[in-house]
Amino acid sequence: MRAATYIEKTDPPRLVVREVDTPEPGPDEVVVKILYTGVNPIDYWIASGRYPLDPPNRIVGSEASGIVVDVGENVTRLKKGMQVSIYPWIHCGDCEECREGHENLCLRGGIVGGVVDGTYAEYVKLPEENVYEAGGEPEIQATAGVSALTAKHAVNRALELCIEKALVYGASGNVGMYIVQYLANAGIDVAAVTRKDWVSELGASRIVPPKDVGKLIDEWGEPDLIINPLGGQVLAESLGLVRRHGYVMIFGGLTSMDIPGGVAPIYRREASLIGVTGGTIQEFKEVVRDLERDVVKPRIWRVYSLDEAGEALNNLFSGERDGKILIKATD
Ligand SMILES: [Zn+2]
Repeated sequence: MRAATYIEKTDPPRLVVREVDTPEPGPDEVVVKILYTGVNPIDYWIASGRYPLDPPNRIVGSEASGIVVDVGENVTRLKKGMQVSIYPWIHCGDCEECREGHENLCLRGGIVGGVVDGTYAEYVKLPEENVYEAGGEPEIQATAGVSALTAKHAVNRALELCIEKALVYGASGNVGMYIVQYLANAGIDVAAVTRKDWVSELGASRIVPPKDVGKLIDEWGEPDLIINPLGGQVLAESLGLVRRHGYVMIFGGLTSMDIPGGVAPIYRREASLIGVTGGTIQEFKEVVRDLERDVVKPRIWRVYSLDEAGEALNNLFSGERDGKILIKATD
């Protein structure tokens, strides 16, 4: 089969399309023909060497829709021909986190495209437990495993807290666009930090460019929750904006995981800093249903061919990007 791989890790990454062995399923595995792959920062971090993971054939990619084309002898839930989406966390099913239903925190697991070959390819081989039937548009279901799942998990965690107003940074990003929709659907008053006008269609009551966040708070009041996937200086600046006893939620760390100036604003406000990563299988099943029923939807910017996978990956951080990037791996 054809796959887009890195030969060596470089920053920015360089992917080449080459022939590799087409995978065959083990007894508990299935092979999925990839229709669409979602492009995410984790792919970039791995291929650039910033994240210390090495998929066997150097095939990155954690998020995809496709069709089941081969099943192992022990596989019962999935059949050839089913349209599916991929749950990206390889997990053991047996450790204390898995037994509690926290597969994203498995003590022996890791992400597809990091610990096993990923989805920048015509086919991927995965355990049955990582593949779920997913109806509707395959372009949309290709955003379930990372973008929509991370948002679902973050918002589920947020709704356990006492919140009415949420300030969302990175609101036009892969995950942010879904966070705004899930929060608004739950009745939370959302202010979205973005320069993109289309985010107002996702349910945010206010759209504010980054430079005007201070002015917004003067008028709107301090939010109960700030969600900030950007990290670094932007996170540092946002820590002092949350209300007393409020919450700041982080994931991704797109610019940096460091907090310049430290966490003193959190301590002075008796606020709480909450980390989230990925989501559980139960949440993934809910996300797939949400996407089938248009409860939430992605804004897709561009669809690249597998031959253009390198360009797709390097456009992730381009200023002109205006929505989700997909790779169409096969017809
Ligand atoms: Zn486990």
